[in-house]
Amino acid sequence: MRVQEQWLWVTDMGIIDIDKAYVAGTYNRFPVEIVGGKGSIYFGADGKEYIDMGTGIGVTAFGIADDEWQKAVTDQLSKVQHTSNLYYTEPCAILAKMLCEKTGMKKVFFANSGAEANECAIKVARKYAAEKKGEEYYHIITLENSFHGRTLTTLAATGQEVFHKLFNPLTPGFVSVKANDIEELKRVATEKKAAGILLECVQGEGGVLPLDAEYIKAVEAFAKQNDIVLMIDEVQTGNGRTGMLYAYQNFGISPDVVTTAKGLSGGLPLGACMMNEKTENVLGFSDHGSTFGGNPVCSAAAINVLSRINDALLEDVKKKSDYIFEEFKNAKGVESVSGMGLMIGIKPIGSASDIVKECINRGVICLTAKTKVRLLPALNIPFDTLKNAVDVIKTVCAEFGGN
Ligand SMILES: *Cc1c(COP(=O)(O)O)cnc(C)c1O
Repeated sequence: MRVQEQWLWVTDMGIIDIDKAYVAGTYNRFPVEIVGGKGSIYFGADGKEYIDMGTGIGVTAFGIADDEWQKAVTDQLSKVQHTSNLYYTEPCAILAKMLCEKTGMKKVFFANSGAEANECAIKVARKYAAEKKGEEYYHIITLENSFHGRTLTTLAATGQEVFHKLFNPLTPGFVSVKANDIEELKRVATEKKAAGILLECVQGEGGVLPLDAEYIKAVEAFAKQNDIVLMIDEVQTGNGRTGMLYAYQNFGISPDVVTTAKGLSGGLPLGACMMNEKTENVLGFSDHGSTFGGNPVCSAAAINVLSRINDALLEDVKKKSDYIFEEFKNAKGVESVSGMGLMIGIKPIGSASDIVKECINRGVICLTAKTKVRLLPALNIPFDTLKNAVDVIKTVCAEFGGN
């Protein structure tokens, strides 16, 4: 595929060749160029349609070029696209109010990504502990197999050595413990004088693994007793993905800090770090900041997304989730199914990456997570589209399942 008419003055190379030549080689892209889409369908430059079961890694919560979302974005775009954080704008204020009212949290700091939302959370935990208990309380406890981002600090928080290799030294003061082992967490947190605990209720990149409900409750109780800041990373699990607005709400806990990004604004870069009554005043004037954070266009998009995640939609998410679980459990070539809501990991007998490649050949885009095929469809994916995608993925799993 050659470039569009208006860019012909730059080059007449093919897009995939230009990308390979000039974009840093950090991604192993599939040989598909996406030129458009609508709802849960992507249009490829090859003229093919693809059912989107990945939503750009949990981002386009209401699909591609959704009418209502697009109107919210373009309305704001035609007024003012950016002001810096030196002035007030309506979308930023309204969005913060909505987030607080829907969660019971008290204040929000806006960033541009999941990693940055987590950076903010870590600063909150460190400052809270430094002021309250002393500066030797700085350790952040995270879990093995977690994922919290790619900055040097959120990499330190990420409990997977493969991401650390050759980037050391990372930010000090992080230690990861085995998930679902409350005794180890208590021991390490006490020994290290922990400032905070950071965890995902469902480990996404780690393989779509929900933590044990009793474990999450026990972590909350331990954090409360010891005045340790409990931070829940809802970057992937948030914004309706698991069948509740935020995944922690499935477990009946009240975290001190909640971070989110990915699906929050449905396809524009926005991260949020929410703080409760314990942590709302930790960050004061000049303690943190961001040029783009809370950008009015991204915020207007997020207001649209949040206003649509209501009880009826969440019920629908759960129904679709039940359907997917039902279809894949005991399916040919499938070992097990894990996850929550529309965040699902299928452990195939065959290779997950081979299966995902073949699914793309057959017009269905899905993701991997470790050795699993990961599904993160749009929250409003039409049922018949979902069914068509599930049929293809099931067929491919069976074909690659060795029988
Ligand atoms: C994707 C992800 C991040 C990082 O988000 P970015 O926007 O890529 O910085 C952090 N935590 C979790 C749980 C994620 O899934």
